[in-house]
Amino acid sequence: MVQTAEIAVIGAGVIGLSIAHCLATEGREVVVIDPAPPGSGASYGNAGTIADYAIQPVGSPDVLRSLPSLLFDRNSPLSIRQAALPSLAPWLVRFARQSLPGAARRNAVAIAGLMAGALPGWEELAAKIGGEGLMQRKGCLYLYETRAGAEAARNDLAFRRDLGVSVEMLDEAETAAMEPGLPVLQGGAAYFPKAVFMSDPGQMMGLLAKAAFAGGVGHIVAKVDRLERQVSGVSLTGTGLNLTARRVIIAAGAHSKDLARQAGDRVPLDTERGYHVEWDMEAPRLTRPCCPTSRGFYFCPMQGRLRVAGTVELGGLTAPPARHRIEKLIEGARAFFPDLGQPDRDWMGFRPSMPDSLPVIGPSRGGAEIIHAYGHGHVGLTLAPVTAGMVADLVAGRAPQAAIEACLPTRF
Ligand SMILES: Cc1cc2nc3c(=O)[nH]c(=O)nc-3n(C[C@H](O)[C@H](O)[C@H](O)COP(=O)(O)OP(=O)(O)OC[C@H]3O[C@@H](n4cnc5c(N)ncnc54)[C@H](O)[C@@H]3O)c2cc1C
Repeated sequence: MVQTAEIAVIGAGVIGLSIAHCLATEGREVVVIDPAPPGSGASYGNAGTIADYAIQPVGSPDVLRSLPSLLFDRNSPLSIRQAALPSLAPWLVRFARQSLPGAARRNAVAIAGLMAGALPGWEELAAKIGGEGLMQRKGCLYLYETRAGAEAARNDLAFRRDLGVSVEMLDEAETAAMEPGLPVLQGGAAYFPKAVFMSDPGQMMGLLAKAAFAGGVGHIVAKVDRLERQVSGVSLTGTGLNLTARRVIIAAGAHSKDLARQAGDRVPLDTERGYHVEWDMEAPRLTRPCCPTSRGFYFCPMQGRLRVAGTVELGGLTAPPARHRIEKLIEGARAFFPDLGQPDRDWMGFRPSMPDSLPVIGPSRGGAEIIHAYGHGHVGLTLAPVTAGMVADLVAGRAPQAAIEACLPTRF
C-alpha cells in the first residue's frame, strides 16, 4: 500500500528532527523516515558545543600548507586512510581550492552569517522541548600548551573578532583560575564567553524527537533506497517503505550524496570521521568544554562522564573505526590527566562534510519539491535550528531569514 504525506524528511539526526519539529509547529503534516533510532548518528556522539565562535572553515591557507604532512601522518589530528585516497581525490582537490586565502575568507564570512542566529535558535528550541537544563552557559576555552601556540593563534582570533565573535586571551594564571583541574598551560587559553555547552547531546536528541512526535510528526523506521519524482509527488521506496510525499527534505547527514544524485543534484559531499572516548565519573574534572587546539579534540564535561571528542579522519563511510585513532585520543587525554584508566566506551561518527565547510541548504535543481539540508560538517549541532528556520521559510515560500546563496546545492 502506498502511504502519502505532505512533507517527508529523510533522516532523524539533529538536522532532520529540527526541521520536522519546526515544520510541525507551522501546522504542516510531516513524517520522518530513518532506519536508526532518532538522533543516534553524528548528532549523538559530538562534542556538544553550540559553537557559534567556530566560523573558520576547515580548509584554510595554514591547513593547505601543512596538508601533505597532515595527510600522511596517521596520528595527526587530521589524517587520511590510504585506501580511501583514490575515491577522496576529487573532494581533496576541491578542498585544496577552497583553502586558498580568498575562498577561505569568503567561506568564513558566510559561516559567520549563519552563526548569527545559532545561539538564539537553540535557546528558543531548548525552552520549547524542555531541554533548558542541558544548556550550560559558561563559555568555552581553546587551550595553548606553549607560548608559541598562543602567539600563532593571535591572527586567527583577531579575524574572528572582526567577524563579531567575542573572545578574550587568558594567561597561564587566569586559565588555571578558570579551570583548576587542568595542568599548567604556558600558552594560556582563548576564552569564548558566550559559548553554550550541551551537557548531553544524546539526551537533547531524545527530547527533540519526543517533542516532534508529540507535536504530530509521524515516524517511519525504514531506509530510503530510491527517490523518484512522479506526477503525484516524490516517491520514496525501500524495504517496507512505499510513500509518496508532496515535498521531500533530504537530511540524511553524511549519507545524503546518493539521495541528492537521485534528485538530479551532484554535490561533492564526503565525510570527516570523528571519534570519542568516555570515562564515567561523577565530577568530570572541568566546568566547560576545553579544546587543546593542536590536538584537534575537546574535553567535554558531559553529565556523569568525561567525553573526549574530535579529530578528523578522511576515510569514507564503510571502513570500520580505526583503533589507532582511538588510542591517540586516549593518549591525548592522558597528556592532561595522566591518571585516566581505560575508557568506559568509544565511538566513531560521520560528519557530513563539504569542501568549503558550508552546508547544503536549498531547493533541488530539478524543482523545489525536493529540498536539501545536510553537509554541516563540524557545526551541525550548532546550526540545526538555523537550518530548520531556513527550510521552513523555503517550504512556506518566504525569503529565508539567513543568507542562503552560499549554501545552495547549485554552487558547485
Ligand atoms: C566527534 C564529533 C564532534 C562534533 N562536535 C560538534 C560540536 O561540538 N558542535 C557542533 O555543532 N557539531 C559537532 N559535530 C558535528 C555534528 O555532530 C554534525 O554536523 C551533525 O550531527 C550532523 O547532523 P545530521 O542530522 O546531518 O546527521 P546525523 O546525525 O548523522 O543524522 C543523519 C541520519 O540520517 C539517517 N539516514 C542515513 N541514510 C538514510 C536513508 N537512506 N534513509 C533514511 N535515513 C537515513 C541516519 O540513520 C541518521 O540517523 C561533531 C561531530 C563529530 C563526529
